Amino acid sequence: MTTIGFVGLGVMGSPMAANLVAAGHAVTGYDVSAERLDRLADAGGKAAGDVAGAVAGADVVITMLPDSPQVEEVAAEILRHAGPGLLYLDMSTISPSTSRRVAEQAAARGVRALDAPVSGGERGAVDGTLSIMVGGAGGDFEAALPVLRALGTTIVHVGPPGAGQTVKAANQLVVGGIYGLVAEAIVLLEGSGVDPVAGLDVLAGGLAGSRVLDLKRHSMIRREFAPGFRIDLHHKDMGIAVAAAREAGVALPLTGQVAQLVAAARAQGHGSLDHSALLKVIERLNG
Ligand code: NAD
Repeated sequence: MTTIGFVGLGVMGSPMAANLVAAGHAVTGYDVSAERLDRLADAGGKAAGDVAGAVAGADVVITMLPDSPQVEEVAAEILRHAGPGLLYLDMSTISPSTSRRVAEQAAARGVRALDAPVSGGERGAVDGTLSIMVGGAGGDFEAALPVLRALGTTIVHVGPPGAGQTVKAANQLVVGGIYGLVAEAIVLLEGSGVDPVAGLDVLAGGLAGSRVLDLKRHSMIRREFAPGFRIDLHHKDMGIAVAAAREAGVALPLTGQVAQLVAAARAQGHGSLDHSALLKVIERLNG
């Protein structure tokens, strides 16, 4: 059993913290939203009044925050209050360069930091079946495994600090690209008078098959876009992928195009819809 501080109890963080409690860990959480603190207390955790309260007495601190600026702000506060040997896991999706900077600042304070972003969505967070990609030192990864096993089923150490975020960026560009192409397939089928349900059923069983087709083809055809994973968050993630590519000195032309389509979805007012709403952009291009 580990004493865990958990900062960021939103769509993902709230069920993740509940799973840690269910696995027998002592969890003290903090969120700027008071209503989210109540949910942690209902799940058997303790609510803290600030970041320092979540860090006090913790062996492990986890953050699950929206983006790089929030992680930088909260990480600075965690490091200010950290005891020696603290293990700090940031599980948010942020830029690899921010993760590397946070890891350096942590090392200077004797704190072991890992970037451990996740894939699998709210469902995976609730079921404890997330995929977790971890960047950092191998020994720190081993130390974190007993905690991570309460949250996910595929847990892989992918390299040094920042590598987890780079893998997550690769994940997001692939998912975004597939949504764009499934949307184009639907527009082609419907524009040609072919039943999209029958068409996509065949695609799902062949080489074009994917988890996106398995999970989302029916809701996309029905134009049901309740989130899920919001366009706003995917827009952030495409920005991370494009910036990471620039930093690595590589060209990702399809990623660039998908990033612009996601930006268009947001500009058209669909930021709070599920990312499968990329279909709305492709439809609009077609009048
Ligand atoms: P969310 O907006 O629901 O939750 C973020 C939480 O952080 C909110 O409760 C907010 O009040 C809190 N917060 C913000 N600033 C804070 C601060 N300074 N101190 C304390 N709390 C603060 O977002 P989410 O969907 O839970 O996503 C969290 C991260 O996980 C994001 O980086 C996202 O890209 C990533 N992610 C999300 C999903 C998904 O399906 N939602 C899937 C995989 C990864």
